[in-house]
Amino acid sequence: MAPHTVDPTGAFTASCGYDGAYPDALAVYCSDGRFTEAVEELLRELGHARLDTLTMPGGPGLLNLWSTGLAEHAVASNAARFLVEKHGIVKAVLLAHEGCGYYRWLCPTASPTRIRARQLDDLHAARGFLADTHPGLAVETFYANASGDRVSFERVAAEGALGCVRK
Ligand SMILES: [Zn+2]
Repeated sequence: MAPHTVDPTGAFTASCGYDGAYPDALAVYCSDGRFTEAVEELLRELGHARLDTLTMPGGPGLLNLWSTGLAEHAVASNAARFLVEKHGIVKAVLLAHEGCGYYRWLCPTASPTRIRARQLDDLHAARGFLADTHPGLAVETFYANASGDRVSFERVAAEGALGCVRK
């Protein structure tokens, strides 16, 4: 039987290896599967072959209390705290992406430009939240763009001078 074939009973052995040590990097990004492989590739290029992930619709936007609901923020911040404290995460990479359905749902009348501005604002706020709650944690922020049939990333500088654009 080929190793990638799932037995009718459900028995299956993955071809990738298993390492019992926790990764030391955490990627916080949206659940949107159109970007998953690209995000993992970016993290590998940044030197993180293995990573913990925190994926929810809206991704790092949920770490900005003033942009999301109390319940969503509590879930996301508690999950991040658990991973940082219990898995020994030392670096977090926060990623927002173009065409995010969560933000379109949150801001149905906003233009793509305004949504992008809000996402960048949320990235800055999420970075600040993690820096405040987890001193010593290194945080990087990126924005993913759909470019034809590719995904391209741009680093979002910490000192972004973007205004707060909210509904
Ligand atoms: Zn999304």
